[in-house]
Amino acid sequence: MMEKLQMIYEGKAKQLYTCEREDALIIHYKDDATAFNGVKKAQIEHKGELNNAISTIIFNALHKHDIPTHYIETLNNRDQLCHKVKIIPLEVIIRNLIAGSMAKRLDIKEGTPAPRPIYELCYKNDDLGDPLINEDHAFALGAASEEDLATIKKLTLEINRVLIDLFDKIGIILVDFKIEFGRTLDGRIVLADEISPDTCRFWDKETRKKLDKDRFRRDLGNVEDAYQEILKRLSTLK
Ligand code: UDP
Repeated sequence: MMEKLQMIYEGKAKQLYTCEREDALIIHYKDDATAFNGVKKAQIEHKGELNNAISTIIFNALHKHDIPTHYIETLNNRDQLCHKVKIIPLEVIIRNLIAGSMAKRLDIKEGTPAPRPIYELCYKNDDLGDPLINEDHAFALGAASEEDLATIKKLTLEINRVLIDLFDKIGIILVDFKIEFGRTLDGRIVLADEISPDTCRFWDKETRKKLDKDRFRRDLGNVEDAYQEILKRLSTLK
């Protein structure tokens, strides 16, 4: 059994630990939740366990579709073993329906369908508030090469197609999501970080009820129940 050795990084929702494998790290999922660039903080009970279980199912589904990720295996109810990567400082967003910051910025009614998936990049930099940028900015900032940017866009659109289908099967609309990529020690670009209700907008197909972190951001209540519901439905998939 792989053990956590030394904590090397603590983020808002997760901790990273070294382990006996040189090429891997253990990711520990916490209950802490933050929003609005860390201004709003709370604990969501069992969130760490729920996001560990939810992202495990999603990483396995992506592997079945040959999408490369950092995920190796789930060790226990809060820890995952993942390949060590150097994170590319971009937040990559896909929007299938308009919501959140895009609805606000462009004054579009939340829930308006996008005619095709909208691909967005933000520069991962807390001091700047993760500003929206385009591929030319990303290149100019040295965040990624031309080739890496092309790989990232292609993988992101593939991930969107897999996730739309997966969630459709369990009665959920994938409104939008944020992902991150990293480069492995052997130079491959892989999906890194997590995919969970912390990083996606999930709406029930019938009722349009929000089943994601917007319940926390917008004080809608029943946050833990929403995460539980996502896990319950994903668990029905074979
Ligand atoms: N998102 C995220 N982390 C962030 C910002 C956004 O995971 O720091 C996710 C968010 O959950 C949503 C998508 O990215 O699924 C698009 O978010 P948006 O730009 O609308 O920002 P928000 O309204 O969350 O500020």
